[in-house]
Amino acid sequence: MGPLDKTVLVVEDNDINMRLFHDMLEARGYNVLQAQDGTEGWRMAREHRPDPILMDIQLPGISGLEVTKRLKADETLKSIPVIAITAFAMAGDQEKFLEGGCDAYIAKPISVSNLLQTVERLAKPLVAEREAV
Ligand code: MN
Repeated sequence: MGPLDKTVLVVEDNDINMRLFHDMLEARGYNVLQAQDGTEGWRMAREHRPDPILMDIQLPGISGLEVTKRLKADETLKSIPVIAITAFAMAGDQEKFLEGGCDAYIAKPISVSNLLQTVERLAKPLVAEREAV
């Protein structure tokens, strides 16, 4: 258990990015779960109820946006915060991701401090976590 007792699920197909996210979150005290595609991410989100999910949008198979839409359409899963990560920061992207249910949006290249601040902001309060048990 990390000192924060928080679990972050990272859904990312790029090994180097996965390693980077894993290492920075673990160094900060988070428990880190890893999924390499949308299908595995969806399965692990249901199984582990992480808080929050770091979701790469460009994934093989089911996209990160599609996984997010499924999560947000499920009454038992929609409270899990989703932070979208994308390489394509184009006009209209932010609106598209937020409309799709993402709680926050970060464009690559990733700023470590921005990422950690966003994770910290969206991690569920301990009280809400206890109530959910
Ligand atoms: Mn990707």
